[in-house]
Amino acid sequence: MPTNKMRVAVMTGIRQVEIRELPKPQPGPGEVLVRIRACALCTWEQRTYSGVAKGRFPFAGGHEFSGEIEQIGEGTDTNLEVGSRVVVGPSGCGKCHYCRLGEESKCVSLFGGTMDYEGIWGPMGLAEYKVTSLEQVYQLGDDLPFEEGALSEPMACVVHAQRRVGIKLAEDVLVIGAGTMGLLNMLVAKADGARVMVSEIDPARCAKARELGAHEVFNPKEVDMPQAVKEATRSRGADVVIVAIGNGIANKQALQAVGLLGRVMLFASAHPPEDLCVDPDWLHYSQVAITGSVHGDVRGFTVATKLLSDRIVNVRPLIQKTLPLSEVKEALELAIKPDTYRIVLTM
Ligand SMILES: [Zn+2]
Ligand SMILES: [Zn+2]
Repeated sequence: MPTNKMRVAVMTGIRQVEIRELPKPQPGPGEVLVRIRACALCTWEQRTYSGVAKGRFPFAGGHEFSGEIEQIGEGTDTNLEVGSRVVVGPSGCGKCHYCRLGEESKCVSLFGGTMDYEGIWGPMGLAEYKVTSLEQVYQLGDDLPFEEGALSEPMACVVHAQRRVGIKLAEDVLVIGAGTMGLLNMLVAKADGARVMVSEIDPARCAKARELGAHEVFNPKEVDMPQAVKEATRSRGADVVIVAIGNGIANKQALQAVGLLGRVMLFASAHPPEDLCVDPDWLHYSQVAITGSVHGDVRGFTVATKLLSDRIVNVRPLIQKTLPLSEVKEALELAIKPDTYRIVLTM
């Protein structure tokens, strides 16, 4: 049934979401129309929905989505075809200081993406259609399931973060937190040839980390975690620590578990944040580097879509449940529970 409308999930307040009918967008020159097929619920959508972070309503969430090209705007020069599987990511303006350095995650135009449609704000991946510029499209393998392809965005964030701390073959990497982002970090670090230790307080998540191939798993409720990391690394400490949970204790333990010349990646934001106290002399003598990372950049998306499409990293075990768009309320309620992995909506 051809129609010029599309369904979109719109959050209207804390724990309030509804399906609205909006006009189906039309692609112009240099643009494509993507028929969205799957969209995962990330922490942004979760925190806005639950009220943990201050939201701007009405909000059309959904930034982890995949789909297929349904229409190519007139005069658009591309090798992509109708039916090509894609995800939508950043492009960068190409003109600002950061873009020219190849650091689009700091692009002054916020990746050049538009976040307003019909008076509703948000990335709008929880919808049936999305018009996007060709530069923002990244191709997926023809046989990659859409649900897995939807995890390209979190994967791109991980690739971007790990490039900033430069994981090398056989290094000892500690990942704190075994939620979706922690385990994605673990899987990518393993693909890089690192030995990966995971710190997690929830026994079920510890088991999941083991099941997915963590070399060591420590539960800080049972052991002195930084000490356990030292013992596992001949007293050296970890070369790289990735904190994948926004938590003051985790950040503190990261500094205790990192070794000389180590790199600490604050991957997660905290709500609210807690001050991090650092002894400047310790920093001076240890030569430890502390940094952070946000978003996936162009390179991150390019690598992430390849990691998924070529099955270098399997994200299937991180998808807990798939529900239809009409059940968005149930999906969000499930996603905000602290013990769930990714919930994916299909449309
Ligand atoms: Zn995300
Ligand atoms: Zn830019």
